[in-house]
Amino acid sequence: MMNSSELKKTVQNKRLLTKKDFLRLAKNMYPMLKSKGHYITDRHVKQSMEDFKKMKVSELREIFQKTHIIDGQLKNYYGHCFSCLRPLRPDYTRFENYCLDC
Ligand SMILES: [Zn+2]
Repeated sequence: MMNSSELKKTVQNKRLLTKKDFLRLAKNMYPMLKSKGHYITDRHVKQSMEDFKKMKVSELREIFQKTHIIDGQLKNYYGHCFSCLRPLRPDYTRFENYCLDC
């Protein structure tokens, strides 16, 4: 049987992606695209990184279609509470991205 502290540990493998995470994702994306044969110059990479840096984290979530990292996996939990991951009901929308309990 799990005690409460063990239970907490399993939950801690989930976290919301930060702007820093997205910038790292962006940086890693270019070598991957190049390896797939896309024509990308260093100048293009630099310009794109500058653009990403100017964006809000909410915009980056939309571009990458990811919100969380859970057990090392990138996940998209748009439309769910960002804390407890339950689907958001339409009447919860005034609390953007969080349910009434969180
Ligand atoms: Zn919640």
